[in-house]
Amino acid sequence: MFKSALFQLTLLYLLIIMLISLFFSVNIYRVSVNEINNNIRRQQTNFERYGPGRAFIQDPEFLEAREDLLNEAKSSLIINLLYTNIVILALGGFASYYFAKRTLKPIEESHQAQMRFASDASHELRSPLAAMKAEIEVALRDPRLSKEESLSLLSSNLEEVDRLKLLAEGLLGLTRERQDVERSSTSISELIDRAIDLNEKKAKMKQILVSSKVGPKAAVYVNSEEITELFNILIDNAIKYSDKGKKVIISAKTGGDFTEIMVKDEGYGISETDLPHIFDRFYRADHSRSKNKAEGYGLGLAIAKKIVELNSGEIEAKSREGKGSVFVVKLPNTNTRESGLRYNIIEKFNKKG
Ligand code: ADP
Repeated sequence: MFKSALFQLTLLYLLIIMLISLFFSVNIYRVSVNEINNNIRRQQTNFERYGPGRAFIQDPEFLEAREDLLNEAKSSLIINLLYTNIVILALGGFASYYFAKRTLKPIEESHQAQMRFASDASHELRSPLAAMKAEIEVALRDPRLSKEESLSLLSSNLEEVDRLKLLAEGLLGLTRERQDVERSSTSISELIDRAIDLNEKKAKMKQILVSSKVGPKAAVYVNSEEITELFNILIDNAIKYSDKGKKVIISAKTGGDFTEIMVKDEGYGISETDLPHIFDRFYRADHSRSKNKAEGYGLGLAIAKKIVELNSGEIEAKSREGKGSVFVVKLPNTNTRESGLRYNIIEKFNKKG
């Protein structure tokens, strides 16, 4: 598909170049022939007025020789213009191909990314759907299915539906786009406390203490919903990938244009080989040595990264296997020049609206 698009675009560019070149060639020819004719006319007038042998101007041989010269000049001009156009055609062909390729490159990359995304997503969708289908088929074939067995089947299917819901939410999270208008000056400690509350139940179940040391002063310029979700993901992971009774500590430090927030756990940690990939979509590190298999699709950190980027921040992970991990998030302060300026513009815009 891209080959034919590349071919068509190259042809289009070449057509434009050649049309311009032909337009100039025709005009150069017309102007040149006009100029020659004007000169001949001027010469003729001068000869008739002041020339010593006026008679030869009417001489048919002289006129024929002049006509020949004129025709020769015209053909030489046509040949030169033709050569020039052939050179332009060849060079234009290369240039058109090069520029067509450059034009299509980002479109091709985004198309490939979309295809990869669709194929990854459908791959992940297949497993829960296949599990549900198999269970339902077995149950339908059993004429003596008891009420208990039906209930167990339904609850197992419900688990799969929950997994599908999680996946659908994750996929939706990855499709979000930049919306500057929604950013505002926010107290980061409030957002972190909200995210801790969202994970309270899970933390209690694993007897994990999640505490925040972030003071109320630090104000960041972000979208509060998105940043709450970001810390929800990080805290959820910290709990998910830690053994019972461990601690999760969230702290922050403000300096310069950014506030740095650290989410530190005492969990399983991430191996050196996994660490560079954990922000990739659908990537899940193997925690086979851990006792409990954690639920997930490997979308959480990809969403986290996207949120951070949309809020002009940065995220990185530091970890040692068996010792725990620290996720460091950098978010722009409200008083930074860039965010402050944008904040003012958006405030004014909103007031006008
Ligand atoms: P999910 O948790 O759904 O698998 P994520 O994108 O949130 O997906 O995480 C990707 C992988 O990174 C996880 O499978 C896990 O192996 C690893 N990981 C993320 N956070 C932590 C953490 N706090 N401690 C240890 N491993 C982690």
